[in-house]
Amino acid sequence: MNPNNKFNHIASVYWVFTQLCNDKCDHCYNFSGPQGSRISEADCLAIIDNLPDSMDRIILSGGEPLAEKQKLYLILDALKSKYGNTTQIMLQTNGDLLTGEILDVLIAKGVTRFDVASIDRFHKAAGARLTELAELFDSRGVNGEEKDPLVKKDNYLHAFPLSWGYWGATEDMWLGGNWARGRAYEKGLWKQDPQHNFCGILSGAIGFLNGGPDIPQEVSIQLWAVNPCCPGTKEPMGDARTQKVADILARVADHPVFQALDKGDPWAMGEVLGISKLDAERRCGELGNVCLWCDEFFDKHFDMKTLQKKTDHSLS
Ligand code: SF4
Ligand code: SF4
Repeated sequence: MNPNNKFNHIASVYWVFTQLCNDKCDHCYNFSGPQGSRISEADCLAIIDNLPDSMDRIILSGGEPLAEKQKLYLILDALKSKYGNTTQIMLQTNGDLLTGEILDVLIAKGVTRFDVASIDRFHKAAGARLTELAELFDSRGVNGEEKDPLVKKDNYLHAFPLSWGYWGATEDMWLGGNWARGRAYEKGLWKQDPQHNFCGILSGAIGFLNGGPDIPQEVSIQLWAVNPCCPGTKEPMGDARTQKVADILARVADHPVFQALDKGDPWAMGEVLGISKLDAERRCGELGNVCLWCDEFFDKHFDMKTLQKKTDHSLS
């Protein structure tokens, strides 16, 4: 470990540790469901070992984290032993499997924020449990005043009081529309708007290296794959089972491709290879979505493994 690596501290890590889910929504971006992919407990522990020395917060998500309850408990215990009470632990859940008994265990194991991300028409329960969940959280003294995702440091970094919030995929969708990923893509539910920049908003790549005034520095780990954003690049930046997350970030941090992503500007990431923003915007217009342009970029033009230009870099 390099003690001078600035990524030994990361503001926020979003970790999908399982794609197992009791639901199987059409708009799911990562193919979660009863047959969803899983990783072993040993892999989970290796990943925790490879997380940065300090983190302001970690968001545990899925899939449905409670569909792998024992693994979730193991992860919470390991996080507690690595970080003590210095990291806010947040759980993103569809809420379907939550009971009073489980809530008590989660609170005892250090979860301080609960985000119920299923209050919409795509999920099986379609929000029908909302009142029941509100009563459940209320009975345990979990504050429901901060309904929306905690984005600003002053509401995710203060003393970690117990809180919960909820949202779902509304008409505008909660993060600018369904992503061109997973089942949402397969089912044609993705947002077909090449002007819309997912990359420049929360859960996009913006700020993944340096953060920003309104958005925390956040990296996403899909099972084990380390990405600059939640939709995930075509190939991940690294493997958290075998590599330190801080090293993965340090490797890409000075590269103009990743600096463009850090600015939330995926149309600019090819400039260093001779692909103008105008050309990128034209291809994005043809593909219909900025993340599909990004996929093509990493597929055809830029090799994530070597951080070099690929030999065939003709624009279709
Ligand atoms: S959207 Fe959420 S609840 Fe629905 S299948 Fe995906 S992970 Fe499960
Ligand atoms: S454009 Fe690429 S880096 Fe940005 S959010 Fe989409 S997949 Fe992620």
